[in-house]
Amino acid sequence: MADGLRIAVIGAGIVGTACAFFLQRDGHRVTLIDPREPGTGTSFGNAGVISQGSVSPVGTPGLLLKVPALLLDRTSPLAIRWAYLPRLLPWLLRFALACRPARVEAAAAAIAALTERCDRAHDLVIQECGLGDLVRSGGWLKVARSKEVLLDATATDRRFWDRFGRRYELLEAADLRALEPALARDLVAGLLITDNRYILDPCAYVQGIARGFLERGGTYLRAEARGFAFEASRIVTVGTTAGPLPVDGVVLAAGAFSKRLAALAGTRLPLDAERGYHVMLPHPERTLGRPVYSCEHGFVMAPMAAGIRLTGGVELASPWAPPDDRRIRRLVPLAQRLLPGLSGEILSTWQGCRPTLPDSLPVIGPSPVTANLWLAFGHQHIGLTLGPLTGRIVADLVAGRDPGLDLSPYRPDRPI
Ligand SMILES: Cc1cc2nc3c(=O)[nH]c(=O)nc-3n(C[C@H](O)[C@H](O)[C@H](O)COP(=O)(O)OP(=O)(O)OC[C@H]3O[C@@H](n4cnc5c(N)ncnc54)[C@H](O)[C@@H]3O)c2cc1C
Repeated sequence: MADGLRIAVIGAGIVGTACAFFLQRDGHRVTLIDPREPGTGTSFGNAGVISQGSVSPVGTPGLLLKVPALLLDRTSPLAIRWAYLPRLLPWLLRFALACRPARVEAAAAAIAALTERCDRAHDLVIQECGLGDLVRSGGWLKVARSKEVLLDATATDRRFWDRFGRRYELLEAADLRALEPALARDLVAGLLITDNRYILDPCAYVQGIARGFLERGGTYLRAEARGFAFEASRIVTVGTTAGPLPVDGVVLAAGAFSKRLAALAGTRLPLDAERGYHVMLPHPERTLGRPVYSCEHGFVMAPMAAGIRLTGGVELASPWAPPDDRRIRRLVPLAQRLLPGLSGEILSTWQGCRPTLPDSLPVIGPSPVTANLWLAFGHQHIGLTLGPLTGRIVADLVAGRDPGLDLSPYRPDRPI
């Protein structure tokens, strides 16, 4: 095993923080670099689901057919800022090609290989960083006002769950009522994805891992990484807003903002942002026991420590564009109908950027051109789920250990 290397990890979201934790645990001298507090980027505002059941790629043939209608409907969960379309077009074309059936099947297998291993990595950080109080089991639930809608909305997922051995239960009205008595009576069909867990405060979860990293002797550098200095094909310093940082190795894990730095180190990747929003509402007197997804409206109601978090939808726009929370606010009356007693008092709204490559797969692996750079980003809708596992894999790669799975589907130089 390589020992005691000076490693810079760029980006303190769930992915970068987990990489820093596992590398520090291996005895390296790790500096985690971010201009913000850990966990305050996209990892702050997700729905908190550790989604071991996630297998479907973002893009499927069915989705592709629906896209034009979704984009034209102002109330749909998919929005685009049309001014961004020319910049996004190459990504969209690649995305469309990745929606072909054979590629979707291959992507699902590659996602399944990651999600089936995610629990063990979470268990390790939960145990070693003392995060058990933030984690709840009980699965997550999809609900609908009719069985037909539920079956239709979950058809692709169910096919993959059956193929990859994920457990789920279809629930009749009475079972649904017993499981989630706070839900509206007209929700009569449910599907419970049994083994998923959820996090009551995703930001606190990342900060707990960051604490574990610091307690093991890691260093946090509150700065922005701006570029690299090279000798031969190796990075020797990371240029940061706090000055140059000499390094033996670098992990790039800056989420949706990784593209420019990857290009500076010689790897061009079609990474873009699927922006997402949340709105926080106070818990009703009778609240939810697990995250609940509405099949009719395409959003999640997640019970968090601070209240009910509504998340949903994808906005295709520049990662730097100012937020527009009008769509997410429109979910509030819909949620009030699904969860009677929920008040319309908005505590806060938030926007983040899911880092997504057109083939729905993250990049996890060594740079093809820079000898001491590892790339770890592009975790789209399941970055909370896959963050700790990614950290473990990156630490294995740096140490020259066998990560225990075939990493070729995630390599940076795959055809995307
Ligand atoms: C609405 C919504 C709901 C979601 N729900 C779920 C869910 O239930 N379950 C799930 O698994 N996933 C979910 N996700 C996806 C998940 O949140 C993301 O995949 C994940 O947060 C990505 O983590 P990251 O560490 O790659 O990126 P981030 O959390 O965005 O972290 C990247 C960090 O890099 C830093 N950075 C950027 N540029 C630089 C630089 N130049 N120098 C230094 N630092 C830099 C940023 O400041 C940031 O802190 C959801 C996402 C959204 C938007």
